[in-house]
Amino acid sequence: KPSLSVKDLHVSIEEKEILKGFGIEVKGGEIHAIMGPNGTGKSTLASALMGHPNYEVTSGEATFNGEDLFEMEVDERARAGLFLAMQYPSEVSGVTNADFIRSAMNADRGEDDQVSLMQFIRKIDEKMGTLEIDQSFQHRYLNEGFSGGEKKRNEILQLLMLEPKIAILDEIDSGLDIDALKVVAKGINELRSDDFGCMIITHYQRLLNYIQPDFVHVMMQGRIVKSGGPELAQKLEEQGYDWIKEELGIED
Ligand code: ADP
Ligand code: MG
Ligand code: MG
Repeated sequence: KPSLSVKDLHVSIEEKEILKGFGIEVKGGEIHAIMGPNGTGKSTLASALMGHPNYEVTSGEATFNGEDLFEMEVDERARAGLFLAMQYPSEVSGVTNADFIRSAMNADRGEDDQVSLMQFIRKIDEKMGTLEIDQSFQHRYLNEGFSGGEKKRNEILQLLMLEPKIAILDEIDSGLDIDALKVVAKGINELRSDDFGCMIITHYQRLLNYIQPDFVHVMMQGRIVKSGGPELAQKLEEQGYDWIKEELGIED
């Protein structure tokens, strides 16, 4: 089974410590939701794991399938099966969406194991059907002129095409209407298997109405302060975060 393990991670941006001892273990077959108030370091976590140069890992460790993640090049992480939504350049002129996805699929395959054009077309047609994406989509230049909702759908299309082992999805639900949200959830649910693990980072509970997480973690002030099952997300939806702050004696 694939696994992503993060231990006591400390990350700073411009000398300011944002992650203060974050830890999690995500295995194949598991969906973890990470929730928390704004500004608590959720996106910092995603950026640090993807190797964004502005984020300095000052201590702690992360391993992906037992290998030191921070010793891997950024593209190596993707080739090994770690998917980070937003890892792709937002606009790349002259590369169509289909070309981009196909080269990403082939990047982690040997020379005699490349995805043929026919296989590729069959698969992308099927996945675009699942996600209710218009056929013209694949010929458009990567993300150029895509609306916010289209970019999100496209990220899920990339996810379904690449079939990563572990995915980190940051705010995949932001700016989506309820229909788009259901489509995105359908795509993620389709990947559920023992060979796939997922960390869904979200500020809101509503995506979790459609994707049942196995674990829900609350992040505050740069670390996980509470973990539970789906009922924890429900309670947050109803009562917000204040009760946790009170319970833990955290002040804003
Ligand atoms: P979340 O995703 O939970 O809303 P972020 O990880 O985006 O939180 O931000 C955590 C903290 O780090 C915030 O206080 C934010 O102001 C700060 N921060 C985020 N990105 C930067 C940056 N590029 N430069 C300086 N501070 C940043
Ligand atoms: Mg934020
Ligand atoms: Mg964020």
